[in-house]
Amino acid sequence: MSLSDIQTRIHAAEEAAGRPKGCVTLIAVSKMQPDARVIDVLEQGHRVFGENRVQEAARKWPGFRETYQGIELHIIGPLQTNKARAAMELADVIHTVDRPKLAKTIARLAQEMGSCPDLFIQVNTGEEPQKAGILPAEADAFVTECQALDLPVQGLMCIPPVDEEPSLHFALLAKIAARNGLTGLSMGMSGDFETAIRLGATHVRVGSAIFGERPPAGD
Ligand SMILES: *Cc1c(COP(=O)(O)O)cnc(C)c1O
Repeated sequence: MSLSDIQTRIHAAEEAAGRPKGCVTLIAVSKMQPDARVIDVLEQGHRVFGENRVQEAARKWPGFRETYQGIELHIIGPLQTNKARAAMELADVIHTVDRPKLAKTIARLAQEMGSCPDLFIQVNTGEEPQKAGILPAEADAFVTECQALDLPVQGLMCIPPVDEEPSLHFALLAKIAARNGLTGLSMGMSGDFETAIRLGATHVRVGSAIFGERPPAGD
């Protein structure tokens, strides 16, 4: 696969779903990828990227930003409270607000810094103990809490369990977003982004299908 193949498939999925062309943002997930592969995608003109880890993002992206204008960086991995400031300084969007303590920390830092990245709330739709995200039953109250903190919540994000039908999880996420008046849906990865687009994804996070397999140490 290549960047243009993925863009073509995204446009076809938008059209098949009766949605406007270009309504889905492709986040190219560059975590663990060799710099040469990332540069290749930057050279093709793509500017929206996702990283899992704040430390890795801090190592890679300030340099790329000096060379390439208009980069939009998304943090899509679990965020420790003590990395919130670094994440907010680096990223345009954070997809993984998932607990009150983190929301409060981001709100305090936003006050201090005078700005805040756009935010998505991660929902643990599969209720998996090892996975980050607020539980579906607690999501409405958490959205309200984040809004009361004046956080710029754009939508919801999920990562379905690997062994389950992703469409059930995408539909659940869309339902929670709709009843909370949120329009952003960050869902869909290399294996299921077309399904996610059919169910309303506004942001798909695609890594290996664009860049190739990550080195084995990856997650
Ligand atoms: C790694 C990762 C992706 C991309 O996964 P691929 O299967 O390589 O497309 C998407 N979202 C999150 C949160 C990830 O950690």
